[in-house]
Amino acid sequence: MDYVIALDAGTTSVRAFVYDLAARRFVYRAQQEVGQSFPRAGWVEQDAEEIYYKAAYVLNDCLRFAGEKTVAGVGLANQRETTVLWDRETGEPVCPAIGWQCRRTSDWCAALDEGTKRLVTERTGLVPDAYFSASKIRWDLDHIPAARSLLARGRLCAGTVDSWLLFKLTQGRSFVTDVTNASRTMLFNLHTLDWDNELLARFEIPRSILPEVRACDARLGEMPTRDGFLPLAGLAGDQQAALIGQGCLNAGEGKVTYGTGLFLLFNTGEAPLASHSGLVTTVGFSLDGKTAYALEGSAFHAGSAVQWLRDGVGLIVNAAETEQLAASVPDSGGVCFVPAFTGLGAPHWNAQAQALFSGITRGTTRAHLVRAVLESIAFEARELADCMREDGVNICAVRCDGGASANDFLMRFQADLLNLAVDRPAELESTALGAAMLCALSLGLADVGELPSMRRAGQVFAPDPALHAQREREYEAYRLAVRRAILQ
Ligand code: ADP
Repeated sequence: MDYVIALDAGTTSVRAFVYDLAARRFVYRAQQEVGQSFPRAGWVEQDAEEIYYKAAYVLNDCLRFAGEKTVAGVGLANQRETTVLWDRETGEPVCPAIGWQCRRTSDWCAALDEGTKRLVTERTGLVPDAYFSASKIRWDLDHIPAARSLLARGRLCAGTVDSWLLFKLTQGRSFVTDVTNASRTMLFNLHTLDWDNELLARFEIPRSILPEVRACDARLGEMPTRDGFLPLAGLAGDQQAALIGQGCLNAGEGKVTYGTGLFLLFNTGEAPLASHSGLVTTVGFSLDGKTAYALEGSAFHAGSAVQWLRDGVGLIVNAAETEQLAASVPDSGGVCFVPAFTGLGAPHWNAQAQALFSGITRGTTRAHLVRAVLESIAFEARELADCMREDGVNICAVRCDGGASANDFLMRFQADLLNLAVDRPAELESTALGAAMLCALSLGLADVGELPSMRRAGQVFAPDPALHAQREREYEAYRLAVRRAILQ
């Protein structure tokens, strides 16, 4: 076998990578942007059909690249929580997919009684929030007559992007998900690793509309190709796939992903560790019959704030130019930015918070504003790392990945702010690497012990002790700005 293919169905694009098993690296990538729509303030939707046909397109592109070489199978990683409802018979979506960043169900979550909120946290490890899929499924059932009608006729499927893609790619033969995606729905019991009957009953979501839950290294189905069938094997939600791709297989190891949002995940070992500081407990992975849990801190906006600088206010032409602009000034000139475009996620879980710039003076320049936006990303990670420590995780170093981790200014600033080494691998696409590893594992082409060595070393950003005190002062200013963002 020469290759495996990794499919990463992300929020802003769907990418497929050809992984060379002998060379242990990606040798080809295909990418298609996917749209998001924002029909009302705080609402985020996507077109599930578009996600599928672009996934099929990039997969075909990779198969074309492979040509005569043998492809063993396809592993999958995906944006989590985004919810799709579709007709089991026709395979057609019932309504737009509700994006993970969508806040439309905030009021519904806030109105849950205290007993249910407690149950959610105890059983699922999550904070009851619009972020998680159950509230999105409930919204569709309450507002989309076609969903109710299909439910009554026993034809409704509800799932996250992984289940949707696997259903479509297998022409309706597989209706499955994995433990990591399931653990983001607010319906999955972390302790029994099954859908939780009591939560299903409270939210009036029948088990029959949900997919079957498998381990991350499970076989998932077969995809028809020109020459026969290709196994779909290996699946994890994108953040957990990145945890695997970064080789964080032991308790105490963790990573920060700087993508559309920012996600700090640390492996906490074989028993779930409850958070007392606003993080969530989640499944890290199930491999080789063993489950590892993780603590996770997720900030909804990170790279998306850079995107906003480019597309929303036109302050920059491309994301990469922020590095040089930020470094062109010694500091942000007292400007702080809080990227609360759709409220704040962990650890604040405040749906009302609004994004803001503070500390603007007559001397503020474009470079200061851009620098403040980059700094805000690092501040989010610092805030979440502090929570992680409070919950008992001993953080010795941080591995980083995701689109915005290409930014050297950001990584340096992050190292100084955390006072820790920030370790950036050669391959920033850790999510895809995790999917490739899972596929190789699932098909018996690699074993778990080999996974950490599949991560190739890149650059380590060491903290500069001379800058630490200044970074602490800047962080205090950011925390004040967050309080303002929440109060306004
Ligand atoms: P996702 O998987 O969530 O779609 P990616 O990991 O591909 O995201 O990262 C894309 C994000 O990274 C975009 O929001 C973009 O603005 C940001 N980004 C990309 N390159 C840079 C850069 N050099 N500096 C800062 N941000 C960047």
